[in-house]
Amino acid sequence: MQYKAIKGFKDILPHQVGAWNRVESEAKRVFELFGFKEIRVPVMEKAELFARGIGEDTDIVSKEMYTLKDRKGNNLAMRPEATASVLRAYIEHKMYESYPIQKLFTIGPMFRYERPQKGRARQFHQINAEIIGDPGPRLDSELIFMLLYLFSSIGINNTTLNINSLGCPGCREPFRDELKNYLKRYFTQLCPDCQRRMETNPLRVFDCKVDRCNQVMKDAPSMLDFLCNDCRNHFNSVKAYLKELDVDFVVNTHLMRGLDYYTKTTFEVQTHELGAQNAIAGGGRYDGLIKEFGGPDSPAIGFAIGVERVVELLEDYSADKKEGPDLFLAPLGKEAEDKAFIWLQELRKGGLRGEMEYRSLGLKAQMRHADRLRARKVLIVGEDELTKGKVILRDMFTKEQTELPLDNLVDELIRLLVR
Ligand SMILES: [Zn+2]
Ligand SMILES: [Zn+2]
Repeated sequence: MQYKAIKGFKDILPHQVGAWNRVESEAKRVFELFGFKEIRVPVMEKAELFARGIGEDTDIVSKEMYTLKDRKGNNLAMRPEATASVLRAYIEHKMYESYPIQKLFTIGPMFRYERPQKGRARQFHQINAEIIGDPGPRLDSELIFMLLYLFSSIGINNTTLNINSLGCPGCREPFRDELKNYLKRYFTQLCPDCQRRMETNPLRVFDCKVDRCNQVMKDAPSMLDFLCNDCRNHFNSVKAYLKELDVDFVVNTHLMRGLDYYTKTTFEVQTHELGAQNAIAGGGRYDGLIKEFGGPDSPAIGFAIGVERVVELLEDYSADKKEGPDLFLAPLGKEAEDKAFIWLQELRKGGLRGEMEYRSLGLKAQMRHADRLRARKVLIVGEDELTKGKVILRDMFTKEQTELPLDNLVDELIRLLVR
């Protein structure tokens, strides 16, 4: 029986890992500059947490969650996103007591049962950042500025930032009514899902991917015309700060999130290089969610980056460009092999990236392996060398050979080769 990975679950192979590490380490570097701290939350939670946090009526919760019952009959789910878990942890550990503003980030796999396609897998990865405890608008602009700075520092510059304001529950209610009236006029043109959504959650019609729904929405009313004073001032300030920070943006009134506790600023970063799947990050304010989860009435804003899509943009970045080992040990004969094996471990402890061939092979075959690994130097030691008390160090690029005494060999190699 030969096993294959589950559909939609992918291996990240050694030659691909370089790009992943680059994105993750750059994210950590940038987040640290902006005062963020890492938090690691479990990949599994009570299913109810996500139903509450993302919404029962969303595709994510109703169709795409990996749910299971444990042996005690508890309903569990693999996390489809990270925000709900981070907020659960924030409340559970009373993090608000230690400092009023918490800036948290987390990196890891998420799980959704979607149709696998290019740029979309069932296990996928996100980088999440959340700022909890401040109503903005300075922090809104800071978070967006940080996100774009991160992309440019990874080398992704061909992006468009879309922003919008979702208002607050107070000013969204009249907008929702107006939108419902508008949709009623086009009821027959809507897809069956949207016909249903029109009653339950009309804002979600903006997200529909069906063409004829998009047509209908072209002339739909805009939330921006309904913002209350507080929400309008907030949005204007965010835009003003972004301008001062030299961040280009497009106001996109179709950028919507159909959940009650998503409030005010919402944003999405798009790239023009990936075809249809063009959002590489999205986020926004969710001032009502922490209270909804039974925590304090703390405002919050966050974003999620789709790591797969970012990595796809970095395809040129190859881990293969990394250098090979500093030293390849090529012993000949059992005695030399045993000695080399012990030296190898000591060399590594001394900070040298070392390799050897563990099977007994001739010199030619060993040199071939050293070449394939792109080793800088090769240490050649056979019976002759052991008797003479000298070994040969060969430079694989200049082909130059020098002799080194056996005495203090390990120390000498570390002195010569560790950079
Ligand atoms: Zn408002
Ligand atoms: Zn639709």
